[in-house]
Amino acid sequence: MNMQKNIAVIRGDGIGPEIVEQALLVLDTIAKKYGHTFHYTDVDMGGCAIDKWGDPLPEEMLEKCKNADSVLLGAVGGEKWNHVPGHMRPEKGLLRLRAGMGVYSNNRPAKIWKQLSEASPLRADIVEKGIDFIIVRELTGGIYFGEHKTEEKEGQAIATDILVYSEEEIRRIGRIGFETARKRNKKLCSVEKSNVLDSSRLWKKVMHELASEYPDVELTDMLVDNCAMQIVKNPAQFDVVVTENMFGDILSDEASMITGSIGMIPSSSMGDTKNGLYEPIHGSAPDIAGKDLANPIGTILSAAMMLLYSFDMKEEATAIENAVSEVLDEGYRTADIMSNKKNCMQIGTKEMGIRIADKL
Ligand code: NAD
Repeated sequence: MNMQKNIAVIRGDGIGPEIVEQALLVLDTIAKKYGHTFHYTDVDMGGCAIDKWGDPLPEEMLEKCKNADSVLLGAVGGEKWNHVPGHMRPEKGLLRLRAGMGVYSNNRPAKIWKQLSEASPLRADIVEKGIDFIIVRELTGGIYFGEHKTEEKEGQAIATDILVYSEEEIRRIGRIGFETARKRNKKLCSVEKSNVLDSSRLWKKVMHELASEYPDVELTDMLVDNCAMQIVKNPAQFDVVVTENMFGDILSDEASMITGSIGMIPSSSMGDTKNGLYEPIHGSAPDIAGKDLANPIGTILSAAMMLLYSFDMKEEATAIENAVSEVLDEGYRTADIMSNKKNCMQIGTKEMGIRIADKL
């Protein structure tokens, strides 16, 4: 079925414009091949918006994102804006965008590309079994958003951070977990600390209530300390992991580390609507900006996630992943993933984009 979609495009700062350009080339190629139409609306956010508008995310730019079918972001920030007042920092634009779009779920795949397996710090026999899972992390609740205070009592300082979750907050992130599993291998692992925490016992109860709505998805439970061990011991067991904010913060960094390269990892942030925010996990890499050195694959794979999760274009998303895999098979590498194995050839940002698009 031919579809028309409006995509808000935030090129941002540093390497942002270079990597987004390659993702758009790939999206245009997909549109041509499958008969879709993608309309792009340029949105200024971050340092470039501060320079142009005196604001890291002017209200009308946020509106453009809210009115789109989805949002693609490169990266924002850089040394030039490090000294501006806090509320004007480029990253504030990103926080306002997330809040304004109402996204409460951050989804990060941890996938090892067999061609880059030597970049993983894990033992070869563990990597060989395959690493391909996704962590769905609750983003706007839990201990990071509870009350924080430090008081003086009986001669010593006492610090308190409160961890709160409502049933509804758990249910909505749980649904994203189940829906994500449905689009993958239908295995969902709910991670909590129900042997100690009340919020985790509620989490577990709600997940099991939801399970009856998703009989096609297999739900398992795991304690967070065990999960941290299992991610390095046997990552092949996971398909989708769903967890609360702080556990997800820590586990998703652990998971991205075992795959090796920061330039390869996409992410999505979702809320109640299909309009999601898609971006690579890395920053604006000012050290290599404008040098045709950046790896555009994290952004290209973010575009593939957009096709799958916002537009339900599974075949198109898979085509992009396969194209990336074929280009890696042929030995083409950007500088960050270059190895001295024979048959590997270093290419620039643009050539990587063109080669991936050509494979489609
Ligand atoms: P970074 O992710 O930008 O860079 C870390 C290192 O990884 C650098 O050596 C960089 O060259 C390399 N790298 C990152 N992406 C790469 C890619 N696609 N290809 C090849 N190499 C890549 O992190 P940083 O240096 O800590 O931050 C730089 C700026 O980015 C800061 O202003 C920071 O605030 C901002 N930042 C933005 C986001 C975002 O927009 N979502 C996220 C993190 C950091």
